Amino acid sequence: MHQKYRYSRWLGMWLFGLVLASQALAGEKVLDVAQVDRSAVSLTEYFAIVEDSSAALTLAEVTKPEFAERFKTGQAPTEALGFSYTKSAIWLRLHLKNSSNQPVDCMLEITYALLASVDFYQPGATGFDLIEAGYLRPRSPRAHNGRFIVLPVLLPAGADQLLYLRVQTPNSLNIPARLWSVEAFHSHQPGDYALQALYFGMVLAIAFYNLMLFFALRDVNYLIYVLFATCMSVALANFTGLGGEFIWGFAPIWTKIGVNVPAALASVAMLLFTGRLLNTAQVLPRIDLWIKLFMAASAAFFFLLMFWFWEFNRFFVVTNLLTSLLILGVGMVCAGKRQRSAYYFVAAFSVLFLANVLSHLRNLGVVPTNVFTSDGLQIGSVIEMLLLSLALADRFNVMRREKIAAQAKALQVQGEQVESLKDSEKVLEGRVAERTAALHAANQQLEAISITDALTGIANRRHFDTVLANEWTRAARAGHTLALGFMDVDWFKKYNDHYGHPAGDECLRQVARVLSEALGRTGDLVARYGGEEFVFITPGTTIENAVLMALRVCAAMQAQSLVHELSEFGHVTVSIGVASMLPEQGRSSYDLVTAADKALYAAKQQGRNRVVAAP
Ligand code: GH3
Ligand code: MG
Ligand code: MG
Repeated sequence: MHQKYRYSRWLGMWLFGLVLASQALAGEKVLDVAQVDRSAVSLTEYFAIVEDSSAALTLAEVTKPEFAERFKTGQAPTEALGFSYTKSAIWLRLHLKNSSNQPVDCMLEITYALLASVDFYQPGATGFDLIEAGYLRPRSPRAHNGRFIVLPVLLPAGADQLLYLRVQTPNSLNIPARLWSVEAFHSHQPGDYALQALYFGMVLAIAFYNLMLFFALRDVNYLIYVLFATCMSVALANFTGLGGEFIWGFAPIWTKIGVNVPAALASVAMLLFTGRLLNTAQVLPRIDLWIKLFMAASAAFFFLLMFWFWEFNRFFVVTNLLTSLLILGVGMVCAGKRQRSAYYFVAAFSVLFLANVLSHLRNLGVVPTNVFTSDGLQIGSVIEMLLLSLALADRFNVMRREKIAAQAKALQVQGEQVESLKDSEKVLEGRVAERTAALHAANQQLEAISITDALTGIANRRHFDTVLANEWTRAARAGHTLALGFMDVDWFKKYNDHYGHPAGDECLRQVARVLSEALGRTGDLVARYGGEEFVFITPGTTIENAVLMALRVCAAMQAQSLVHELSEFGHVTVSIGVASMLPEQGRSSYDLVTAADKALYAAKQQGRNRVVAAP
């Protein structure tokens, strides 16, 4: 009874649908659900569309026969319908029939998580049944509980129905809708989730690994990278509906802003990362300014989007696109400058770019749907993260190599410094030795000069005084005698007067030479006492021996026979007074000199050219 009633209702609806179908535009395609089996069927080309810019139309108005012609059809068979950012409500009409003699159970899946409200009207027993879905709505017990919107569609045998969807969202309005048979949908799901889990598992591992690297290496770049990876994964968790399904389903507002707000922060992190890793401040100072500008803009969007999502979202999307181009461009320029990290950068962003292009091409129906095209964004972002992580590792390597090189260089410089220090030390030592030798020679010369008589070249009076004092002390200590001879040239004044002073000087030189040669014994000293007076000291000598020495001098003078016309003897002669003394208490060297001087005086008195010994 109940069953019969239901069928009659279905029949009524079927007839109603038939009427509507006849009113539909010629281009409208009808989908036979009996043909849907293993794989999903994209619904894009089957939709008839009305954009309600007032967002005020009701189902009653939309389903009026006179309204039917306002639905537009004839879309290309692409993956999704796209309306970009719009405040309009989008009405979709779907014409389904079941050509089989069995009821067919289907699933209508919209693989896009950022739809705020989706009203699904399906012909039911009493007019249209409504299922409300979308992230702003409480989860309907009648909709399938999953990451995307999944609506049950049941078509009785032979049914021909018009279904309506009303969609509205502050996010980019995309409707990638497809129809599954229930079995196909359920067998597709585990693989789909496994793939997502794989992606998020990898991202989490990368993020944690780099966080550990940050703690280990204390390099802020790792932290920035972790921030980037985290923001990206939050954005993607939201985009894939997994965040809404598992984590923040209780806070639908977060789903609304949860892609672009973390994306803005990811942009800040990525720009910071780019600047630091590629050292743009030094390498490209002008472009670095742009990087900082975009960083500031992205940071501003991070806050603006939280409060004025609708107002700023479109500007952010454009900025974000420009940011990607900027980063890719900077990477390419740096790669052109043969910066190694830049290669990884370009590779990373090229992969992401390629993934983006692929997913767009898939949406346009140019390339077939497969794992690489439908989940390209995830795969691309994982590869991107791996490549950037490699860039970080490479940077570490480069830094280590640079450090080793710097150390080697420092060591080399140090070695060179030590060498040059040694060299200069050697030079200095050489110079010091040179100067010391020169000083020594000068000193010796000075000493020689200071003890030598300038005219005769024998010891001078000063040296005589020193030697006499020393010898006196030595003789006193040794207890032996010290003998001294005092010698004066006879009639020398006359010689000078007669032959002139220069001849007198020459005569004094001759006398000094004769004296030195006659008393050449070592230990004896011969000196010029002053004027034409000479002395000799001979330690340990008796008075007799001293007299003999003096006589030797007189004989030598005789042998020399220097002509002196005014002398009684006809040649230059000398008189010598000799004294010998044992240094005892109460005597001084002065006494010895006086005694010899007295003896000399006596020699002069006795007629000159002779030797007189002191008593
Ligand atoms: P004597 O000693 O035999 O009594 O007679 P003398 O002529 O030698 O006497 P005196 O000692 O008075 O004369 C010394 C002279 O020696 C005076 C001076 O002209 C001369 N005389 C002293 N020193 C030098 C000198 O350095 N060069 C020359 N050419 N003559 C000197
Ligand atoms: Mg004299
Ligand atoms: Mg004299």
